[in-house]
Amino acid sequence: MSGVLRRIWQSLFRGDVSRVFVILILLFSTAITLLLTGLQLWRDYRYELNVLDQRLEQVRISNLESISQSVWTYNLSSLEIQLQGLVRQQDISFISVEDGDGETLLSVGENIEEDALQQSYALTYIHRDSPRLLGQLHVKASLQGIYGRLLNTFVVILITQAVKTFLVSMFIIYLFDRMLMRHLRRLVDQLGEHYSRAKPFNIERSVTEFNKEDELNTLVSSLNRLQNTIETEHQKLELLASFDSLTGLPNRIQLKETLDARIQAGQPFWLGILDVNDFKNINDTLGHQSGDQVLYDIGLRLKCLQTPHCFFARLGGDEFACVFDGDAPARTIADTILQKFEAPFLLHAVQLQLSVSIGLVSFPDQASDAQQLMKFADIAMYHCKKSRSEFARFDPQLDEHSLNNLTLMTDAKQALENKQFCLHYQTQIDSDTGEVSGLEALIRWQHPTQGFISPDDFIPSLELSGDINALSCWVLEQALTDYEQLKPHLSKPLALSINISALNLLEERFLDSVEVIMQRFSERPQLVMEITENALMSDPEYACTMMQALVKHGVEFSIDDYGTGYSSLSYLSRLPVSELKIDRSFIFDMETDLRHFTIVQSTVQLAKSLDLRTVGEGCETAISSSILKDLNCDKQQGYFFSRPVSMEALISYFQSLEDSDDTSLSVELISDE
Ligand code: C2E
Ligand code: CA
Ligand code: CA
Repeated sequence: MSGVLRRIWQSLFRGDVSRVFVILILLFSTAITLLLTGLQLWRDYRYELNVLDQRLEQVRISNLESISQSVWTYNLSSLEIQLQGLVRQQDISFISVEDGDGETLLSVGENIEEDALQQSYALTYIHRDSPRLLGQLHVKASLQGIYGRLLNTFVVILITQAVKTFLVSMFIIYLFDRMLMRHLRRLVDQLGEHYSRAKPFNIERSVTEFNKEDELNTLVSSLNRLQNTIETEHQKLELLASFDSLTGLPNRIQLKETLDARIQAGQPFWLGILDVNDFKNINDTLGHQSGDQVLYDIGLRLKCLQTPHCFFARLGGDEFACVFDGDAPARTIADTILQKFEAPFLLHAVQLQLSVSIGLVSFPDQASDAQQLMKFADIAMYHCKKSRSEFARFDPQLDEHSLNNLTLMTDAKQALENKQFCLHYQTQIDSDTGEVSGLEALIRWQHPTQGFISPDDFIPSLELSGDINALSCWVLEQALTDYEQLKPHLSKPLALSINISALNLLEERFLDSVEVIMQRFSERPQLVMEITENALMSDPEYACTMMQALVKHGVEFSIDDYGTGYSSLSYLSRLPVSELKIDRSFIFDMETDLRHFTIVQSTVQLAKSLDLRTVGEGCETAISSSILKDLNCDKQQGYFFSRPVSMEALISYFQSLEDSDDTSLSVELISDE
């Protein structure tokens, strides 16, 4: 019994639900008890008053005649005995007799003022057949006795109800705990235990004939079913998350795990990064499907080398990684991989001879953590590509310049993956109106350790590493996204120029990507792609075809840095080009250098005759600006108007224009560079 009480006590103060439950029962039961007791007491009170009334009536019936007799005979001693007898009756507290003049003849008892019931009766005597009024009899009955009895009843009801309520609630709590709460607690404990160990769970509950169909059992089996589904999905996701879907090889995530585990073990190993040479050509000439087929075949060959001590992963694109345990010479590792590329790859009866560039780095003597290992292997791989050797071991003795270049190359690639770039915009001014008529997007990179790096320094690295397509697509998408933000603050649309690389026009996938991106922006601005003239020289025919395809999508082309190359204007005008940007080296000193002035003058004239728009870039002074205007150069761009600024600065500039309503305001933006 004491065990049961202890459990009840514990369940009262352990689980919140039980506590709230018992408190609610007590509150409800108390309210009901009070209401019912109130009704009961009211009924008792009415009954008692009734009884008192009857008692007074009885006094009148039985005693009025004899009291009248005593008054008539003026027998005061007999009268007193009679009154004493009456006042001893229950609740009657005071009796008095008055004579005909209202003088009190005799009174017995205590004359209390409040809470009493009073009755008065006329005292008469029949003398010679005619009634005579002798006086009045006053009887008072106190209610205090009734009150006392009601209080007793109230206390008794309250105590019995409280005891009953307490016992019943304890019993309910006990049942509640036995039938529900303890199961729920076990459920929660089991779930908590499994989650803390991150293990799949299976909740167990003993099933009896009595409980097999109750809600708890349904809950338990639903939870177990849910867990099974989650577990299966989890396994599928894990598989997807750690394997490359095209080749079935482990992916970057697994490579990172493998590297961490090897580093933890402290045993020496090699990390290698493999990049297929000229893979882009396969994609461009045979199509992406063939490219994927080749990558799949490479995956198959590499899988043959997979052992517990030799691990392969696909990093993405045509890049693979390998981890070789031990400290065998780099040549041995490279040969193991290279022999897998000796046999040609067969693609629709075409034999493809592929070669790879392999960069190797060794742990622990060359790098000590996974990030450094990846970076050095990448550097070695680019070095290998540049030197056109079959493999290269990371060489810390590489001259500082090459090392810096190679490091920049890997960093820029990572910056692209980690979205460290942003775009700034420089305004282009209409020479006639002096108003902003276009924007040129210029990429900005704040390197985590080296600070601001000029695009002139890292764009060539990205061209070399084969990531320039991804970069240009990012620029296009970002510029269009930024423009959407700016649009609401513009009174008229602006042209939007982006810079693209020569290599972009040699890759068909650039065209595909541009189409996909542009489709996402329905109300896009006039898009201008700026390209340097030299860029068009490596494969002019192919570039021209690509340009024509892009022009069909509404893109205009602008020849950037015009004048620094060797191509003739008549040749360039055969390409689908709309604009010439005269290089800043001619603009900014044309006021002092007559030769440069003449070049600008004749370029503008010639461009006009070929129906090309001209932009003078690098306009730094008011004099240059007015010369350009006098020469009929259509647009001007340069620090005289604005440095390249962030989109936020541009928006607040246009907002201030909106507020001032002065569209001819001279364009002076505050540079945030
Ligand atoms: P660019 O296309 O000729 O860009 C103009 C460059 O001149 C910009 O340098 C700009 O800041 C600078 N500039 C503008 N006005 C003046 C001026 O009045 N005086 C002087 N001295 N310079 C002025 P930035 O931003 O360093 O860009 C350098 C080059 O990097 C660009 O030359 C362009 O070829 C390339 N670049 C920039 N952004 C991108 C991009 O998103 N993609 C590609 N592929 N190349 C880019
Ligand atoms: Ca440009
Ligand atoms: Ca330029």
